[in-house]
Amino acid sequence: MGTTETSTPSDFIREAIEEDLRSNRFGGRVHTRFPPEPNGYLHIGHAKAISIDFGVAEDYGGLCNLRFDDTNPVKEDIEYVEAIQNDIRWLGYDWGDRLYYASDYFEQLYQYAVQLIKAGKAYVCDLSPDEVREYRGTLTEPGRESPYRNRSVEENLDLFARMRAGEFPDESRTLRAKIDMASPNLNMRDPIMYRIKHATHHRTGDQWCIYPMYDWAHGQCDSIEGITHSLCSLEYEDHRPLYDWFLDALGIYHPRQIEFARLQLSHTVLSKRKLIQLVNEGYVAGWDDPRMPTLAGLRRRGYTPEAIRDFCERIGVAKSNSIVDIALLEHCVREDLNKRAPRVMGVLRPLKVIIDNYPEGQIEELEAENNPEDPNAGHRLIPFCREIYIEQEDFMEDPPKKWFRLGPGREVRLKHAYYITCQRVVKDEQTGEIVALHCSYDPASRGGWTSDGRKVQGTLHWVSAPHTLDAEVRIYDKLFTVPNPDDVPEGADFKQNLNPNSLEVLTCAKVEPGLASAAPGNRYQFLRQGYYCVDPDSRPGHLVFNQTVALRDTWAKIAAKTS
Ligand code: ATP
Ligand code: MG
Repeated sequence: MGTTETSTPSDFIREAIEEDLRSNRFGGRVHTRFPPEPNGYLHIGHAKAISIDFGVAEDYGGLCNLRFDDTNPVKEDIEYVEAIQNDIRWLGYDWGDRLYYASDYFEQLYQYAVQLIKAGKAYVCDLSPDEVREYRGTLTEPGRESPYRNRSVEENLDLFARMRAGEFPDESRTLRAKIDMASPNLNMRDPIMYRIKHATHHRTGDQWCIYPMYDWAHGQCDSIEGITHSLCSLEYEDHRPLYDWFLDALGIYHPRQIEFARLQLSHTVLSKRKLIQLVNEGYVAGWDDPRMPTLAGLRRRGYTPEAIRDFCERIGVAKSNSIVDIALLEHCVREDLNKRAPRVMGVLRPLKVIIDNYPEGQIEELEAENNPEDPNAGHRLIPFCREIYIEQEDFMEDPPKKWFRLGPGREVRLKHAYYITCQRVVKDEQTGEIVALHCSYDPASRGGWTSDGRKVQGTLHWVSAPHTLDAEVRIYDKLFTVPNPDDVPEGADFKQNLNPNSLEVLTCAKVEPGLASAAPGNRYQFLRQGYYCVDPDSRPGHLVFNQTVALRDTWAKIAAKTS
């Protein structure tokens, strides 16, 4: 078994695992699992859990299972089962042939429940859901015992079998563990193990009408699969005594549960319940809307799996919850794409430029490097001619002194091309809007430099007007206007913090002709603008790009200030 026992463990989970390896608690094995409930798409918080579950197994030569926690047929769907597998593979993790479902174990779980009934540790309770809640007590008050708590084993066995057989309506009865109604831990106050739900399950069909609760299913599934370390987020810490109680009461193989802090990301919500609302109520276009913190959304936005894994590594594993700045996630994708995204020229808001002294009808092919950060990226040829487009915001009619872009009489460099000087501004007579510029170029500045050593301050990106391809560019801003959208007054809703301007669609963008064959998922840096990814909506003749991130790196600034 490939352990790294000689180096210092990097976090408390690895520390605990190494302690168990030293004491031979699990026979030298490390076996984890990732247990998503198929009731929504995976989000960036799940990526953290995945990178811990699979990463820990990888580090110690162990295994990690994928197990769907499919215990609630009402909220679950096969669409999610497939999307979840797709997303985990995309992140670069592999569960081999160990794909399991809690529903694989429904019969075994039922038999375990019978065992607890026979041991006098579980009973059928006839209280309604409201009554169960009322009897449960509060954090400051103990609960009251159910009047059905002391039924005989025989009666319990009979009722439980009839629950399974479908004799009783939904919510009329439950099976509960008999623990302690006065426990300071509410999870230990005779928790429900089974509820009746006459619902069709996406895998077991109508075979069952009783379904196990998470707490009852989870630890027993871990035990059946021989999991050594059951890693989960912090909200399960209070459930650990129950996790342990069930396994001890059954006397079966007993894995160790360890909790880590949940990822919270600024300007984002990471609860499936809330993400579902955004989808179902039409605040976003779907689970894979590029503004969503889902892996499907991040992928469509242009994020790479490498950037997400790097992010998970940087945030590390902590024991207390804190909010991570979304700027760190953006920083990670910028760093990754900087190295590998080809650099091209795209003009988002075009302004026509006519170069009066450039020969009419002439076309030159100019050499442009694809990525100075990548020695293997090579060069391409881009066409240049008399009419080009530049960015509207790169021209000012009455610029301040320190304006390094184009203005009347000012000279700038066109990237990979020539120096040009603005001679004349053409305006719409009605609106006064600037519609074109007339410029001159210096034929001696081919490639973007002159032999007389004349310097210009600004370099602009551009595209050749007759060769350009039209493109739609979708620019995204944060989905929420405040760092913590969940922080709302009593009775208010997180949706009040939605950013009404989170999507801007530019329909007249122009990109260089080499992008004609750009396929969905291809990523580029548009020089001076940012990183862009071809959207699945893109078609030949109608290119659609998503802005992944702008070039400006706010995280680098934050990091520089605090270091
Ligand atoms: P939600 O509350 O959004 O529905 P969940 O925890 O119920 O999320 P599951 O599908 O049950 O979603 O999660 C699978 C695993 O992912 C669990 O082990 C859970 O601890 C972990 N997980 C979920 N959200 C986060 C998060 N934000 N950060 C870290 N781990 C998470
Ligand atoms: Mg859950």
